[in-house]
Amino acid sequence: MTASRANIVSHPLIQHKLTLMRERECSTKSFRELLNEIGMLLCYEVTRDLPLEMVDIETPVSPMQAPIIAGKKLTLAPILRAGVGFLDGMLALLPSARVAHIGLYRDPQTLQAVEYFFKAPHDLSDRTVILVDPMLATGNSACAAAALLKSRGARDIRFVCLLAAPEGIAHFESEHPDVPIWTAAVDERLNDHGYIVPGLGDAGDRMFGTK
Ligand code: URA
Repeated sequence: MTASRANIVSHPLIQHKLTLMRERECSTKSFRELLNEIGMLLCYEVTRDLPLEMVDIETPVSPMQAPIIAGKKLTLAPILRAGVGFLDGMLALLPSARVAHIGLYRDPQTLQAVEYFFKAPHDLSDRTVILVDPMLATGNSACAAAALLKSRGARDIRFVCLLAAPEGIAHFESEHPDVPIWTAAVDERLNDHGYIVPGLGDAGDRMFGTK
């Protein structure tokens, strides 16, 4: 059931680091570091098609025209709390990006996303927004977050996750067909508690050591 439009980033560095993270014995420290490193690598992929423009510069040897990123209006939008795990790695590559924090939690009974915080740059209409959350499980949180960003004017949204369930991809693509997905892997399925199988457990708990 893997959706054909999701970009699966199969780079060996990402796959290797993801395997280390999946291991039950991976420490909180290592989990956090690996998530940051993969965030940086996924950021490289999701920005691959950013438009360039030519500017005049002078090297020590001669003048030349050289490319820089056009516009530079990028916003990173982590879904709290696990999405924050991608942030430092991505900001290392995009140091001028703005950050929109989206607070959503998953109601354990209904698995629906409940909003508790939203703080974003005022006008998102002329920005490329990179929505980030490590786990695309049911898709409820990602769908709600993309809808919130759109209600604030965002028109160019990209979604980056670490792991996806086929059900989450199908749900997200049905509600937001205009938002492309980048993920390191698509696992087998969701279990009855909405966890990805085989997955890596609760990304937030593993990253913050709260379990
Ligand atoms: N959120 C997680 O952290 N892990 C899952 O497997 C599903 C949702």
